[in-house]
Amino acid sequence: MSELLVLAHEEVKRLLPMEECIELMAEALADLARGLSWQPLRFVVRPPEDQSLMGLMPAHRSSPEPAYGLKAVCIFPGNPARGLDAHQGGVLLFDGETGELRALIDGSAVTSIRTAAVSAVATRALARPDSRVLAILGSGVQAQAHSEAMARVLPFDEARVWSRTAEHAQAFADDAGAPFPIEAVDSAEAAVRGADVVVTVTSAREPIVERRWLEPGAHVNAVGSSIPTARELDAATIADAALFVDRRESTVNESGEYLRAVEEKGIGPDHIRAELGEVLVGSHEGRRSDDELTVFVSLGLAVEDLAAAEYLYQRGRNEGAGAAVPF
Ligand code: NDP
Repeated sequence: MSELLVLAHEEVKRLLPMEECIELMAEALADLARGLSWQPLRFVVRPPEDQSLMGLMPAHRSSPEPAYGLKAVCIFPGNPARGLDAHQGGVLLFDGETGELRALIDGSAVTSIRTAAVSAVATRALARPDSRVLAILGSGVQAQAHSEAMARVLPFDEARVWSRTAEHAQAFADDAGAPFPIEAVDSAEAAVRGADVVVTVTSAREPIVERRWLEPGAHVNAVGSSIPTARELDAATIADAALFVDRRESTVNESGEYLRAVEEKGIGPDHIRAELGEVLVGSHEGRRSDDELTVFVSLGLAVEDLAAAEYLYQRGRNEGAGAAVPF
């Protein structure tokens, strides 16, 4: 009989430190660009008349060890008011030789850590190295993870945070625990003007960032909009920017930022300069000048969850963490 390793939320946080996850995600995205991993578009179950959804995100990786992964994630926008993460679910890891189920891993912890780690990889690759001012729009789970991740890749002097609910921005500024001071400001414009790096991590449905607020040479990680009906950046920002994405196929099918800029500004797939992994392996150019505006649109990929799950499974077994269930 084989064993199934079950890793809960706190164990995932302990076993997947941000610093290590950043390198793991850089490798996973480079491997995607090298053709060593494969994933279809995610499948979304969206009941009519309901705010919740379930996303199914399968992937396969052939090297160094073959493995299959599947994240089943439910998004319940009302959860933060209940004191729960809006993202719930699990990542399943399957043996790539036999198909046996090896691990069940808390999906909300994996999602928060790997998403911020991917933004850190994008920031390290695309932002100006002399960036010192950070703007964070949003104050939820991803805002917290991003303040930690951004600090790992650039020596920011200061950050501003704006959130729709002013008390949430203030609480975030007071409690984030970042190695730079964070000031809560009362508008998205006040956060964005003068910032070198902007992170958008909200559930906004309409733009909260206007092109004219962004400085020459700024870098934006647009993370909050991962479905066609959501967006955080106006179309002018997408149209003016050197646009980088996690995956082209996902972007042209799933990204509200991209799809609305197609409608409003007439851009097409050739406006995407590169996938982040392509920049990492050196097959495509990144930033071209210090005054270029760069935008990274993050939708979240199944190969990221698979890479995190493989790492957690190995480390969890080595350290005797979690619960091993006969299966
Ligand atoms: P939380 O629910 O923890 O936080 C949501 C944030 O969005 C809060 O700061 C809230 O502000 C703000 N917000 C909600 N509605 C609006 C609105 N209409 N206009 C402006 N701000 C709004 O969510 P997470 O931090 O977990 O996720 C944030 C976003 O990132 C979500 O949209 C999520 O789907 C997306 N995401 C993307 C991933 C990716 O891989 N790209 C992965 C995981 C999440 P306040 O509380 O102040 O009202």
